Amino acid sequence: MTTQQAKPALQTGQMSAVAIADNFSDLHPPFSTLQAMAESNRCLYCYDAPCVTACPTSIDIPSFIRKISTGNPDGAAKTILSANIMGGTCARACPTEVLCEQACVRNVAEDEAVEIGSLQRYAVDHLMARNLPHPFKRAEATGKKIAVIGAGPAGLSCAHRAAMLGHDVTVFEAKPKPGGLNEYGLAAYKMTNDFAQREVEFLLGIGGITIEYGKALGRDIALADVKSSFDAVFVGVGLGATNNLGLAGEAASGVDDAIDFIENLRQASDKSTLPVGNSVVVIGGGNTAIDAAVQAKRLGADEVTLVYRRGPEHMSATEFEQELAKINGVIVRYWAKPVEIKANGRLMGMVFEKTALDASGKLVGTGETFEVKTDQVLKAIGQKIKTDDLAGMEISGGKIVVDDTYQTTAPGIFAGGDCIKSGEDLTVQSVEDGKCAAIAIDAFLKTA
Ligand SMILES: Cc1cc2nc3c(=O)[nH]c(=O)nc-3n(C[C@H](O)[C@H](O)[C@H](O)COP(=O)(O)OP(=O)(O)OC[C@H]3O[C@@H](n4cnc5c(N)ncnc54)[C@H](O)[C@@H]3O)c2cc1C
Ligand code: SF4
Repeated sequence: MTTQQAKPALQTGQMSAVAIADNFSDLHPPFSTLQAMAESNRCLYCYDAPCVTACPTSIDIPSFIRKISTGNPDGAAKTILSANIMGGTCARACPTEVLCEQACVRNVAEDEAVEIGSLQRYAVDHLMARNLPHPFKRAEATGKKIAVIGAGPAGLSCAHRAAMLGHDVTVFEAKPKPGGLNEYGLAAYKMTNDFAQREVEFLLGIGGITIEYGKALGRDIALADVKSSFDAVFVGVGLGATNNLGLAGEAASGVDDAIDFIENLRQASDKSTLPVGNSVVVIGGGNTAIDAAVQAKRLGADEVTLVYRRGPEHMSATEFEQELAKINGVIVRYWAKPVEIKANGRLMGMVFEKTALDASGKLVGTGETFEVKTDQVLKAIGQKIKTDDLAGMEISGGKIVVDDTYQTTAPGIFAGGDCIKSGEDLTVQSVEDGKCAAIAIDAFLKTA
C-alpha cells in the first residue's frame, strides 16, 4: 500500500497543458452560419422590442437579427457597433440572461429566448475577421483636444465616439496594454484568442486616437496639467483598490487578491505554470468571486470553496454564474463571514462565523464558527476607486459623482464606467457611459 504524500502549497503544473487549454477554451463556442441563420429566424422582429429597452446600449436588436437572417452579417455588425463599439466583448461577457434575453418575448414557459448574445458575436466576428476598412467615418476635424484617462471599456468607448465626432483624443493608460478589465479581468474562457487586443486594434481603426501607455494619473501625470493642455477630460479609471478583510494575518503568504490572481491568469502565456492552492477558499459573492473560484478549479485546485456572507438571492453574480460555479465543482457556502486567518508563516486555514438576519433585517454573526483548511484564500469582497489626484471632484461612497451629462463637479471634467457613482459594474454599462459622455463633451465644447 502506498502512502499518499501531502502536496506542497501552491503547486504549479497540477494539470497538463492540454487539459488546461481545454478547460480555458471558449465557454460558448461561436455559431456557425447555419446556426446563426436558424436562430435569427426565431426572432419575431417585435415592434417596440423589449430586448432593445433591456440593452444598456440600446442596440437595435430586431434590425441586426433581420440583417443576419437576410444574409447581411456585416450590415448587422454595423448596426450593433453603431450603438456599442465593444459589441464583440459584450457578446462574450454580457449577462444576457438578465438583460436582453430575459426581456425577449420568446422567453416564456414552453419556449426559449432568442440567443441574442451568440447572434451578436456571429455578426461582429464576421466583420472583424475580414480586416475591412473601419466601418465608421470621422466628422470634419473640430480642432478640439480631449484627454481620456484609462483605456478600459469606458475610456475607449468615449475615445472612439469623440474621434468619430471629429475631436483629437489622447488616452493616458497606466498599464502597458489597453482594454482595462477586458484584457486583465474578464474570465479567460470568455475572452479567448486575444480578443480584447484585437477589438482595441479594430476600435483604433477610426483614427484620431493616440494611447500613451505607462502614464498613470497621480503618478506620471497631474490632473491640473492635463486639464490645462486639453479642451475637456474624461476620467474612466475603473476601480483600483481591493477591500481588505480587516483580519490579523492578512499579509500571510497564500492570502491573495482575487483580481491579481485573475490578472496573472489572463496574462500567462502558459497557464499550466501558474501556481494554485490544493484547497482554495474564495470570499465574496460577485462576478470576481465566481470567476476566481471557477478558474482556480479549472487550473487544477483539488477543492474550491466559495464563502458568501448572505444567501444566493443576495449575490450580485447572476444565477447563470452561480450555476457555472456549481457545475465546475465549486462548493458554495452561504451565510458565513471570515473571522480568523490561521497562519503559521504560511496560510493553514480560515475560520468563519455563521451569519443571519436579525429582526430588523441587519446581518449579524450567530456566534457559531467553522474552519476550512486552506492553502490559498482569494479575497473578492469589492473594490473602491483609488482617489489619488481627483481633487476638485466630489466623491461619494468611494465613487465620482457626475450629473446627467456625465460631468463631474469639476467643470470640463467628465467621468464614466465603474468609477462613477451610478456604475453598474458591467462592461456594457461602461461602454454606454463612455459613448454618452463623448456626446455630452461634444455638446459642452460647442457651447464652451
Ligand atoms: C474579475 C472581474 C470579472 C468581470 N466579469 C464581467 C463579466 O463577465 N461581464 C461584465 O459585463 N462585466 C464584468 N466585470 C465588470 C467589468 O469588467 C467592468 O464593469 C468594466 O471593465 C469597467 O470598465 P471601466 O472602463 O470603467 O474600468 P476598467 O475596465 O477597470 O478600466 C480602467 C482603466 O483605467 C486604467 N487606470 C486606472 N487607474 C489609472 C490611472 N490613475 N491613470 C491612468 N489609467 C488608469 C486601468 O489600467 C484600466 O485600463 C468583471 C469585473 C471583474 C473585476
Ligand atoms: S424580444 Fe426577442 S423576439 Fe422580439 S425582437 Fe427581441 S429578440 Fe426578437
